[in-house]
Amino acid sequence: MINIDKDLCIGCGICESQCPFSAISMVDGKAKAGDNCTLCGTCIEHCEQGAISMPDLTKAVQADFGSWQGIFVYAEFRKGVLAGVSLELLGIGRKLADKKGVKLSAVLIGSNTGDTDKLLIQHGADVVYKADHPSLKNFCEDSYAAVLGDLVKEHKPEIVLAGASAIGRSFIPAVATKLHAGLTADCTGLEIRESDGALLQTRPAFGGNIMATIVCENHRPQMATVRSKVMKALEPDVHRTGDIILVEPAVSALTSKIEVLESVESEGLKVNIQEADILVSGGRGLESAKGFELIRQLADKLGAEVSASRAVVDAGWIAYPHQVGQTGKTVAPKLYIAVGISGAIQHVAGMQSADIIVAINRDADAPIFDVADFGIVGDLFEVLPKLIEKLDQR
Ligand SMILES: Cc1cc2nc3c(=O)[nH]c(=O)nc-3n(C[C@H](O)[C@H](O)[C@H](O)COP(=O)(O)OP(=O)(O)OC[C@H]3O[C@@H](n4cnc5c(N)ncnc54)[C@H](O)[C@@H]3O)c2cc1C
Repeated sequence: MINIDKDLCIGCGICESQCPFSAISMVDGKAKAGDNCTLCGTCIEHCEQGAISMPDLTKAVQADFGSWQGIFVYAEFRKGVLAGVSLELLGIGRKLADKKGVKLSAVLIGSNTGDTDKLLIQHGADVVYKADHPSLKNFCEDSYAAVLGDLVKEHKPEIVLAGASAIGRSFIPAVATKLHAGLTADCTGLEIRESDGALLQTRPAFGGNIMATIVCENHRPQMATVRSKVMKALEPDVHRTGDIILVEPAVSALTSKIEVLESVESEGLKVNIQEADILVSGGRGLESAKGFELIRQLADKLGAEVSASRAVVDAGWIAYPHQVGQTGKTVAPKLYIAVGISGAIQHVAGMQSADIIVAINRDADAPIFDVADFGIVGDLFEVLPKLIEKLDQR
């Protein structure tokens, strides 16, 4: 938090009224900063006495590196189900922990979590911190951020990983703020740097045109989120053992400012292209919503789900939950059929992990053929009806 020079402070209260985070209060006639100070600097700008200054973060945190050890994975549990991304994070977390020779811990927050703790151990966790409490039944950003933030403060893991899901995106930045840590969102690669054991966090930058590797040189913990289907979960080992530690969250952590009145499932959430074994994906080459019907017909014949490029979603031929790519979903089906999709880098970022990729495009130089295992160069309006007819005959 910011430094306040008590000799210079005259207790005018301007900083208190200007702080956008209500992080400053007057104690014995002098300004005092609280835990929710984000170092935004607004108070510094307004203090006419020059009594407030930024701390030297580099020196303050670097000195403490040795006390941060181990890896935390946030285990996302909602409505009785553990999110798949949590198991995937344990997969990469296990590799990182083995490389560093440290423990991998999962933090499970929710209510009625049942045997999820054992599942986490089977998938690679050495320790599960389990905060299972009726007040944590509904996801509330402030409560979840407080529970996870308090555990990180207590156990000081050097790395904290979470899914870049709707829930992760919603509260992990708040945890990072509480810890005065940075956060690398949507990582596609995580490695340990040989020279000093720092976490190398790779993610697309500048609209996906370059891959940037981000290193947190001066602060701990190193925090990163990863989208679903980017990492691979380990095969469960039912004989694996680990420690399950029950966590009693602080009363303040359980008192949320959010009251959940009703939980309504969005129509879009019923579509889960990330779980599909086969995806038939259409692009702008389909020309119209009517043309896109061919994709649905082919998907029907194959028992597949329908997905699309962003161009198609932007054109309104199909809803956003079906979009594959950097700003859509990352998918890894057994079979991905890309029809009339050029293979822009932002699209490929979301589907290149598919086991088998088949591309249909009339342009033999389309970049989609660079990632395809099988390619059909031709007019999709001729190829698809023939394909559908052949499947009908089978
Ligand atoms: C920040 C950012 C994020 C983005 N995120 C995403 C994302 O998440 N997902 C995504 O998909 N895109 C994303 N994009 C957009 C991306 O750059 C491309 O514009 C988009 O993927 C193009 O969609 P498309 O391949 O369907 O269309 P086009 O690029 O127009 O390709 C159409 C293809 O169809 C072929 N074709 C045309 N007619 C026929 C025919 N009759 N028979 C056979 N082939 C035919 C053409 O040869 C062409 O290759 C993003 C862009 C930015 C800048």
